Amino acid sequence: MNIVKDLLTINPYSRPGTKLGKVTKIAVHYVGNPGTSAQANRNYFESLKAGSRDSKGQFVYASSHYIIGLGGEVVQCIPESEVSYATNQANPYSISIECCHPSIDGKFTVETEQTLAELCAALCLRYRLDPIGDIVRHYDVTGKCCPKYYVDHPDAFEAFRQRVKAIMGTDIQSDTSGTVQIRRGAYYTAKFTGVNAGKLTVTAGTGGVVTVVPINRGADKLAAIVPIGKPGDTTGIYTTLPGGKPMKRFVAQVI
Ligand SMILES: [Zn+2]
Repeated sequence: MNIVKDLLTINPYSRPGTKLGKVTKIAVHYVGNPGTSAQANRNYFESLKAGSRDSKGQFVYASSHYIIGLGGEVVQCIPESEVSYATNQANPYSISIECCHPSIDGKFTVETEQTLAELCAALCLRYRLDPIGDIVRHYDVTGKCCPKYYVDHPDAFEAFRQRVKAIMGTDIQSDTSGTVQIRRGAYYTAKFTGVNAGKLTVTAGTGGVVTVVPINRGADKLAAIVPIGKPGDTTGIYTTLPGGKPMKRFVAQVI
């Protein structure tokens, strides 16, 4: 996924520069302006710094961390460490993603939705979020019809969340052994069960090959294994109980 950083100027109307709190939700939006590009929407947010007023004479406050365009391209408007003005009362604890759409029904293109799924998966891993419970629509926060297609078709939104979960790889592998190949750009989630599984620490034996991201879900220990090395690089993945010795569970190989 190629993310173009085109950050807004710090200003009171679209990038207040306020530090974002602990991220607990990812909020999905649609731009509501059919056929417009990610860049055009970013430029609109930037233009608000002049102090635009709506039809009632009120100042317009609007922005988003990310905007995904019709071809799946991504423009980042605000650093993830700062608040965006996208999701009302959820702004202090959410990362926001606006999506472009070709027509009035708000349905995303295949390319936009694919990028949205990949971006949500990456964010869920980064902030240790559950894709089923923690990816929300603007509608779920305020009742606003946004993103329209997912509000009109809740089944499509549910399928989308399942798709993000599938990208993250959860519930696929369990207590693995042997060598596991991980494609660059994808993730592998290892699940460790059994007595005291929740107390395990998961580590990589060799540096620079993978990043291990612990995920706590119920009594099980999950760890996302994210490739960062070159194709062919390998490392052992170990689990350690408090006070115990590291135990090799499997070998991860980047492909
Ligand atoms: Zn919205």
